[in-house]
Amino acid sequence: MTDVWLKEDAPRAGVVQGKPRVGFVSLGCPKNLVDSEVMMGLLDRAGAEITASAETADILVVNTCSFIDKAKQESIDAILEMARLKTAGSAQKLIVAGCLVERYRDEIQKNIPEVDAVVGTGELERILEAAGLGIPAQPPTELSPFNILSGAQAARAEGNRREEQGRFSRTTWDGARAKLPQYLYDHTTPRLRATAGASAYIKIAEGCDHPCSFCVIPNLRGKFRSRRFESVVAEAEALVAEGVREITLIGQDTTCFGEDLGLKDGLATVLDRLAGIDGLAWLRFLYAYPNKITGRLLETIARHASLCKYLDVPLQHASAPVLKAMKRGGGAEIFLKMIEKIRRMVPDIALRTSFIVGFPGETDADFEALCDFVVEAKFDWLGVFAYSDEEGSRAFELGAKVPKRVIEQRRRALMKLQRGMSRQRMEAQVGRVFDVLVEGESKETPLLWQGRTQYHAPEIDGTVYLNDFGSFDLLTPGRFYRCEATEAHEYDLVARVLEESPLNAGEVEERELTSAGAEL
Ligand code: SF4
Repeated sequence: MTDVWLKEDAPRAGVVQGKPRVGFVSLGCPKNLVDSEVMMGLLDRAGAEITASAETADILVVNTCSFIDKAKQESIDAILEMARLKTAGSAQKLIVAGCLVERYRDEIQKNIPEVDAVVGTGELERILEAAGLGIPAQPPTELSPFNILSGAQAARAEGNRREEQGRFSRTTWDGARAKLPQYLYDHTTPRLRATAGASAYIKIAEGCDHPCSFCVIPNLRGKFRSRRFESVVAEAEALVAEGVREITLIGQDTTCFGEDLGLKDGLATVLDRLAGIDGLAWLRFLYAYPNKITGRLLETIARHASLCKYLDVPLQHASAPVLKAMKRGGGAEIFLKMIEKIRRMVPDIALRTSFIVGFPGETDADFEALCDFVVEAKFDWLGVFAYSDEEGSRAFELGAKVPKRVIEQRRRALMKLQRGMSRQRMEAQVGRVFDVLVEGESKETPLLWQGRTQYHAPEIDGTVYLNDFGSFDLLTPGRFYRCEATEAHEYDLVARVLEESPLNAGEVEERELTSAGAEL
């Protein structure tokens, strides 16, 4: 297999002189955002200037998502928009990166002639060569001892087994000629954060070994692989020293963390260690696989004040036959028991989940079972995806496809059900006092400011709007304030500021925060 990443006939006239200005468009999930931050960090270290203005950039980069049809369309629209800007403006190069490249490498280069280079998820360091800023040491995946066990790449036995069964095969994808991605950054990799100063993500693992039949992420991102334990700790310490107060650990499946390196209860162990970092106020992780939520993990969340009482566990469905066809297993009864245990061990925890409606073969009765489960489980936050038929997934081969119209009806019905329940839950919060991490002026109106409690993950859940600053003339973004909820909406709360939060006492001395991307 050959890594085809730089277009053979890319116009060499597009060589950028001097210090190039690079404009970045990052699409998709926080995992993709971290990839963008790594590429921006590499470019910055190599002498490029990252700019928020695509109109004046010399080089444009679109980091794409290819999770489902909607995400693909959004990515293609962004590439075409940047191609238009390149034709009309000053940009001399257009680079496409990310999941779409892993899947449609050839098509992108063939059909969008404005694209000069593509960079897959497993070759982030090659952004330098694509931008004309040098050639990385070869091969990029062997740069650091922190990510490679001596000799061979570590792997979970489950991943090796699934590889033998063809789980990661990309042979039906014309453009996927690059090797299955193996890349994983570490704490020595430069990273230019795009998140607000007080909050940062750390990707602790990449890839996924699970067999979910609707999902092509393993084919796009490769086998599950963990960052080295000490590398995660070193990155967290460095972020806190820079002034970060909230860290969110991410990966396709954070609950498998360390299994490929022989660690038992790896996630609980790393949480235990990170929770002890002075100055870190909030720590959370996203995307737990249901049967990996151990008693040790819950006990760890319950024990540390700095561990947010928050769990995101995508369940995908609740009807056992649908879950079986999805190759996930479980069902409403098992999940309700799990939720009861979670709430018993971590009282006051906020639970987030997501479901897919319209999976092939999903009947009216399956959908009703899902709705009944949602009513009984009472999630704090819930996302619903319409099933997207992805070529290369096992579900793509299944018959009994649900018509798109029915899928959309079910998606709307489930969201409506959750909206009503969410409103009730929000109303029950009125009068409650929370520590709120203030993010700044509201995105909706300059008349309000906004923030989050520990029960809201960044960019995902509802918002706390602040309309009364109490005795404060101004609030400081990145600081915590004790606030009282005064009003409830469907997903959001309105609150008034009471006083400074004790969480500010653990603040690391003020330093200039590296939030280069805040302006992006
Ligand atoms: S666990 Fe998540 S990323 Fe992994 S195969 Fe299932 S849905 Fe895809």
